[in-house]
Amino acid sequence: MSSVDFTKIPVAEIYGSNCFSNALMKERLPKNIYKEILAVQAGRKELTLEVAEVVAAVMRDWALSKGASHYTHWFHPLTGLTAEKHDSFIAPTSDGGVIMEFSGKELIKGEPDASSFPSGGLRATFEARGYTAWDVTSPAFLKQDQTGTTLCIPTAFISYYGQALDKKVPLLKSTDALNIQALRVLRALGNESSQRVFTTVGPEQEYFLIDKQFYDRRSDLMLTGRTVFGALPAKGQEMEDHYFGAIKERVAAFMRELNTELWKVGIPAKTQHNEVAPNQFEIAPVFANSTAAVDANQLVMETIRSVARRHGLEALLHEKPFAGVNGSGKHNNWSIATDDGINLFEPGENPASNARFLLFAAAVVEAVDRYALLIRASVATSGNDHRLGANEAPPAIVSVFFGGPLTEIFDNIAEGKSGATNGGGATIKIGVTSLPALPLDVSDRNRTSPFAFTGNKFEFRMVGSSQSIATPNTYLNVAVAQVLSEFADKLEKAADKNETIHTIIKESYSKHRKVIFNGNNYADEWVREAERRGLPNVKNTVDALTVLTQSETVSLFENHKVLTKEELESRYHIYLEKYSKQINIEAGVTIDLARRSIFPSVSAYAAELARDAAALAAIGAVSVPQEKRAKRIAELSAELFDETGKLETVLAEAQETEEPFAQAKVYYEKVRPGMDAVRSKADALEKLVSKDAWPFPGYEDLLFKL
Ligand code: ADP
Ligand code: MG
Repeated sequence: MSSVDFTKIPVAEIYGSNCFSNALMKERLPKNIYKEILAVQAGRKELTLEVAEVVAAVMRDWALSKGASHYTHWFHPLTGLTAEKHDSFIAPTSDGGVIMEFSGKELIKGEPDASSFPSGGLRATFEARGYTAWDVTSPAFLKQDQTGTTLCIPTAFISYYGQALDKKVPLLKSTDALNIQALRVLRALGNESSQRVFTTVGPEQEYFLIDKQFYDRRSDLMLTGRTVFGALPAKGQEMEDHYFGAIKERVAAFMRELNTELWKVGIPAKTQHNEVAPNQFEIAPVFANSTAAVDANQLVMETIRSVARRHGLEALLHEKPFAGVNGSGKHNNWSIATDDGINLFEPGENPASNARFLLFAAAVVEAVDRYALLIRASVATSGNDHRLGANEAPPAIVSVFFGGPLTEIFDNIAEGKSGATNGGGATIKIGVTSLPALPLDVSDRNRTSPFAFTGNKFEFRMVGSSQSIATPNTYLNVAVAQVLSEFADKLEKAADKNETIHTIIKESYSKHRKVIFNGNNYADEWVREAERRGLPNVKNTVDALTVLTQSETVSLFENHKVLTKEELESRYHIYLEKYSKQINIEAGVTIDLARRSIFPSVSAYAAELARDAAALAAIGAVSVPQEKRAKRIAELSAELFDETGKLETVLAEAQETEEPFAQAKVYYEKVRPGMDAVRSKADALEKLVSKDAWPFPGYEDLLFKL
């Protein structure tokens, strides 16, 4: 437990104290160097070694003054985690002493051995070199743990031949692509002031907390992040007494420390509350530019885990740690902003900004409809398969929620209702009349939509709680960039701008309005309705990933210079393999626990019952319930044994299948149902044996004891 009283720490003093922020650079760097950095951040200039030398020296002095001994290039390999290789600042001198060194070269470029990170065949083993390069758009920070204090430099990870080996490179490239196309549209609309367009992202992170003493006795949680067994307790989430309920003392202490740690590294953690399921929580920072937000979210996940351990807790970031109660997601709030402070999804107060808003909103609708499969693939993981389509999460059908008033405006434009009426009877002429003021809650509060317009941003809710948000944002950016490029082609040639804007919106919306759905996404009718509309409903990761190698996807990514065909293929294989590996571990744990823990425990318990029954019979007292229970347990044990054997057979089949897609299919189609079959027997047994006889803590301990 921590001895620091976090209630007494002045936030203003600690905020950003471990972050090498722009404010700090402004204060410490020579003016001209700081200006150079701003230009590099804005994509107007390349970073030179001379500038890097100056920054490195200042960064080193700052880090050393804070007690740092090491530095690391911090990056996002395709595992979805973050990786770091620590180097110390120490350099020996000829007289046997040391000096603390850190050069510009060391700041901008690192050479970790890339061979142990997944590359999906991009890197032959004889060419294991990969480079990490400083990502100037995301601030460096200090990490403090048992190893001491380390200066972490956010970087992009590329192969010797320049291919992306991480999730950062494509994200950066997708923001560039969106910048180029959005600026074209803005210029065509007459905007001369904005120099750069970027996306803003604010992810809401959900997670569970459980007591560490229970976690330590559950090897399924330790090895897979989720429970592969567990009968539902008498109480689930039906009382709805957890959501926004009072935060328990122990959790409150954890949250205080979590906030403090995040504030120190300059992450503006803002809201926190209980979530729907018991022991489920959420934390959301204030939004930031997408690269900083992506890095921050990786740090948030890491910090949740490490702070939890200091409080005798274990944080579960898995999408579905418990069957039968809500899973965890990560709402990805996403918007497009300009460097001069315009939010392009802010419905405007005057005709010009309205035209802009309607055009950009139409572009998102078209992008989500045309690239629905890609959007779906961006959140495809084995963990998220438990969630998408289950009743608490947005279904696997990608649709957009616009809300009544906005939908009406677009409907009217599409149907050419004498221009467009605003509901109050007035006619909207693009670029001439104002939109009716949209009520602020226009859109909010449809909690079932996978992609909802929420007033001045879109909220993508299909993202899984444990995944990096880099990929969803990359795919989204590139899809929208493509549609904007087509809009720009038309606008740049237009004689009558307002007329053309009107036509673009009308044509685009008419064609893609089928993706708009304002109703209840969890209802069965929606599944049928979506099918009638021709919207895809891809229910599993294996099928969802296939879009990555389709020719339309390849040309989309190649046109915008975000990923090449080879890079997409390698990613496709890495994601398939990751899926298979995860199910493989889960199945292994299932078999192991069934055979070596559950089976022996229940057999011993049944024998005990039988002995009791016999002892009672010997004194003439017959115990029918004891006998019946012993018999039922024996039956179920036999079934458990059989199902475990069958699982072992299909697992072997999966392991022997070589081609990655075929292999993942076996895991999906055979191994997963096999695990479910074993589980159903075990969960039935759990309800029949005494609590003491069950070999590990059950759901009641995990979900209700904190
Ligand atoms: P809710 O739970 O109602 O969805 P929250 O307040 O929990 O709302 O989360 C809203 C999130 O949206 C916050 O992380 C916030 O920073 C983010 N956000 C707000 N405006 C924008 C924007 N323009 N771009 C990106 N994210 C935004
Ligand atoms: Mg939300």
